[in-house]
Amino acid sequence: MEREVRVRFAPSPTGPLHIGGVRTALYNYLLARKLGGKMLLRIEDTDQNRFVPGAEEYIRQSLEWCGIELDESPWVGGPHAPYRQSERKPMYMQYAQQLLDSGHAYYAFDTPEELDALRARLTAAKVPNPQYNSITRSQMRNSLTLPEDEVKQLLDSGTPYVIRLKVPRKEEVRFNDLIRGWVVVHSSAIDDKVLMKSDGMPTYHLANIVDDHLMEITHVIRGEEWLPSAPLHVLLYRYFGWESTMPQFAHLPLLLKPDGTGKLSKRDGDRLGFPVFPLEWHGVDAETGQPTVSSGYREGGYLPEAFINFLAFLGWNPGTQQELFT
Ligand code: GLU
Repeated sequence: MEREVRVRFAPSPTGPLHIGGVRTALYNYLLARKLGGKMLLRIEDTDQNRFVPGAEEYIRQSLEWCGIELDESPWVGGPHAPYRQSERKPMYMQYAQQLLDSGHAYYAFDTPEELDALRARLTAAKVPNPQYNSITRSQMRNSLTLPEDEVKQLLDSGTPYVIRLKVPRKEEVRFNDLIRGWVVVHSSAIDDKVLMKSDGMPTYHLANIVDDHLMEITHVIRGEEWLPSAPLHVLLYRYFGWESTMPQFAHLPLLLKPDGTGKLSKRDGDRLGFPVFPLEWHGVDAETGQPTVSSGYREGGYLPEAFINFLAFLGWNPGTQQELFT
């Protein structure tokens, strides 16, 4: 049976929604509308240290101003509520436990100092990409190297731990990206990423995959900065036994500075005289603590239709001369 197309926009409320984020939301929305599917929004707020008050409300208002309608979200609800990861916290440990039980994850008890020492050792040995992986894990304090009773004792005594994915040593991980084509990565290039943090919160990787699966997402359309994470996500789908319903990936090229030297930032926008946020953003200067105001498209007097039409053309064209779309 054909599955209903379900896409999601999954911002982290770490600041104002940037023009690149709106474009990601727009492409998701357009695909859902074109294929008669559903578009949902999930707030990825598992990293409490990066949480910015007001960011979620800003995201909501920005999308509304742009005319991007959501079928499911923390605000309209839906069959897979809650749509805020912080409210789904109890669920993630159970999935981490599943990976522990099947031998695809392990407990790691290393202190920050021990991790620093590992990094220093590898850097001194000129290892190009120092990692906690299939080679270095054998030198560390985790449930793969410690005797079982010691692991039990550490867990019982409340010693802080993280849960890491046990990435295989020699395997090819491949997936067919809708934009990039086949992406093939050797597993030795993938870190044993942390899935559960010592504060009991899941990391982005675990929460994102569990939620995409439970929310029956069929297409993951997101910025190219997530391309390096995708092989790890493919492994997670495999180890959970969810490969047959793994979403299709489409990693969108980033919006770059006009000279192409990097990701377009707020500063570039200011310098070039165009806003990079949809609405005015009232923020706080990280250094001075003083309130800041950054203008957006609405305050700049742009019509949402013009803004959206302009955005749709960044990284795409219809192959015709048509320049105006509703
Ligand atoms: N929370 C991630 C972000 O803010 C989402 C990445 C994804 O779509 O998987 O970019």
